[in-house]
Amino acid sequence: MATVIGAHNFAALKAVYERPSLRWILQPRMQLTFSGRRMNLQSKSSDEVEGSPWDNKGLLQSQELYRYVLETSVYPREPEPLKEIRAITANLPDFYMGTTPDSGQLIAMLLNLLNAKNTIELGVFTGYSLLLTALTIPDDGKILAIDSNLESYELGLPVIRKAGVEHKINFKHSPALPVLDKLLEDDKNRGSFDFAFVDADKTNYGNYHERLMKLMKIGGLIVYDNTLWYGTLAMPEESVHKLMRSERSYLLEFNKFLAADTRIQISQVSLGDGMTICRRLF
Ligand code: SAH
Ligand code: CA
Repeated sequence: MATVIGAHNFAALKAVYERPSLRWILQPRMQLTFSGRRMNLQSKSSDEVEGSPWDNKGLLQSQELYRYVLETSVYPREPEPLKEIRAITANLPDFYMGTTPDSGQLIAMLLNLLNAKNTIELGVFTGYSLLLTALTIPDDGKILAIDSNLESYELGLPVIRKAGVEHKINFKHSPALPVLDKLLEDDKNRGSFDFAFVDADKTNYGNYHERLMKLMKIGGLIVYDNTLWYGTLAMPEESVHKLMRSERSYLLEFNKFLAADTRIQISQVSLGDGMTICRRLF
């Protein structure tokens, strides 16, 4: 696959892709070469692929099986605006951060089962999970969406507007923790949320959990994303790339903590990069 990139983006993109850390992430699955303004992205066949924690967005052991799942059950039902967000995100250096569409399908089902109307999202990026939520909840539903980065949100915003669901979204450009603390100052926010999707900085998940447990309705769901951290949780630390170690050790503790938290029912699912679904029991 060859992609021609505008002059405006090209130098920046080339610099990013040539960074040794990213090269390491991309190389297990893709061969990237540059010629003129053309970037050639060549997928390697699976027998050329060497094992690496970041070589596959999903946790399935075969890329072919993952592709099968996407092509059979996911892409045919994925709403057009979500495909657009994915297309925009695919060109970014941080493309791998977007929620995978198979995880999205489960999130939509959970929202429908709950009849969720009042939701909160920590970590929006270009808005895949946000738009998915906005498309799923009723017309008078609300999403409080928080991200410390405005630029990535603005990349997806035209698609959200075109889809006619912006009125459901209250975007806060801020780190998540102070927004949660502020909400807790007003008693009427306690026990008021049906659904939370947590996908911001992983090493704050424990802090988010304590606050969200007060903000959720009894019976409401908190979904934590990336709880299996590219599969590194089951690898010895020395075989894990150093960029991934602090989250790895944090999540090892956090997953144990959730498993022991009697206030919630949990289900660890291995879609995407692992999601833990928590239901507030009391
Ligand atoms: N849910 C998104 C992916 C989120 S990626 C999707 O479906 O595409 C993680 C996001 O968390 C990034 O956009 C980053 O800016 C944001 N983030 C990181 N630390 C944060 C913090 N402390 N508070 C709020 N957002 C944060
Ligand atoms: Ca994520």
